[in-house]
Amino acid sequence: SKTTKDDIRKYAKEENVNFIRLQITDILGMIKSVEIPVTQLDKALDNKMMFDGSSIEGFTRIEESDMYLIPDLDTWMVFPWPSGNGKVARLICDVSLSNGEPFLGDPRGNLKRILKEMKEMGFTDFNLGPEPEFFLFKLDKHGEPTMHLNDQGDYFDFSPLDLGEDCRRDIVLQLEELGFEVEASHHESAPGQHEIDFKYADALKACDNIQTFKLVVKTIAREHGLHATFMPKPIFGVNGSGMHCNVSLFKDGKNAFYDEATEHQLSTTAYQFMAGILKHVTGFTSITNPIVNSYKRLVPGFEAPCYVAWSAKNRSPAIRIPASRGLSTRIEVRSVDSVANPYLALAVILKAGLSGIQQKLDPGQPCDRNIYEMGPKELEEAGIATLPTDLDHALIALDKDKVVQEALGDHIYENFRAVKQKEWDSYRITVHPWEIDQYRKIY
Ligand code: ADP
Ligand code: GLU
Ligand code: MG
Ligand code: MG
Repeated sequence: SKTTKDDIRKYAKEENVNFIRLQITDILGMIKSVEIPVTQLDKALDNKMMFDGSSIEGFTRIEESDMYLIPDLDTWMVFPWPSGNGKVARLICDVSLSNGEPFLGDPRGNLKRILKEMKEMGFTDFNLGPEPEFFLFKLDKHGEPTMHLNDQGDYFDFSPLDLGEDCRRDIVLQLEELGFEVEASHHESAPGQHEIDFKYADALKACDNIQTFKLVVKTIAREHGLHATFMPKPIFGVNGSGMHCNVSLFKDGKNAFYDEATEHQLSTTAYQFMAGILKHVTGFTSITNPIVNSYKRLVPGFEAPCYVAWSAKNRSPAIRIPASRGLSTRIEVRSVDSVANPYLALAVILKAGLSGIQQKLDPGQPCDRNIYEMGPKELEEAGIATLPTDLDHALIALDKDKVVQEALGDHIYENFRAVKQKEWDSYRITVHPWEIDQYRKIY
């Protein structure tokens, strides 16, 4: 890391930090933290902070539950919102076992493992520019989220009806204060829906940023009497929320997806990487779209993708190549939603893309038609498959995809699989309001 232990001690003193949160992310993408008083900072900086991993979802078996938190010093950040007892800072940590080996169940450490494979193939960076979308709902007088929206705004709406604007601006200001380079923020298509895009960074940092972003959005929304949700499809009949992932490979500061000399200025590497994603997107959908509700978003008609295809223009396929070239040449993976664990999502996307390069895969022709309008026969003739239509099918596809399993490693794959099976089973046996509505009277 560029930051030294002495830097951290200095920052803690200069900013009057009283508490430090040591953060990790569990396999479900939830931030978990241990908070220490600043008097324990030296111990933390010496990698001596222990915690019990058995209490964290999918983390570890009881018999190896003692683990160490290894702070990544470059992630030091002081939370800007007030707390009663002085300032609170955070450090994002890697997790190691008592023998010093990295813990294989740690999603962040796992992404590092795949990034290392990338470096061995001669690339220097994997960049991610995420486009997280979310809804703002009103809180009730007890501070509980309701289903009431606070506005009726529409995409790029400048009318005074965009009452989420104030809150969104506050979020943007807070993010900027924390060092985010916010590139754009706007009201999205659905009422109450917003998007904030921040500048791409290398995958690890970008994933850390996504975790911080969600925390900031939820915290600031609450200050405005609102609840921010990243749930993919909170309202039936309008657009859901995705988190398109713009990705690119760099080699020594140059974009490896850009090739001036070709027809579309895309390199062979770009095509092969994309082909790898197309080959494995079905297998990794349970990772990028991990909850039952994710599949209510992946339906025709709402700008969300439902097909395994690519296009330079259309938004209905899983992959789009935005028009920018040069340093901004990138592949937009549109299927991802923001409840995905970003570290796992990026690990499977990267691994899939790299395997496309290794196997010199060809993505075939782009599909520039609106696939939503194609019938089943046309789809079949064009060889276009549909993304998994529910979590169950997505998990079955994961079980068939060895490359995606390797991207997760056995520990994460098995634990993720087990938790998600439970989630699906619980949904499957529940009798939902829709069924009561449809069937109770007529049968
Ligand atoms: P669009 O509206 O075309 O879907 P946006 O302009 O909203 O896309 O988002 C673009 C995102 O892509 C931003 O996060 C931006 O930083 C990111 N980006 C730009 N260049 C690259 C690159 N080379 N690699 C990865 N992401 C990139
Ligand atoms: N909200 C859409 C989705 O579910 C995306 C809209 C857009 O293209 O920005 O992916
Ligand atoms: Mg959008
Ligand atoms: Mg987009």
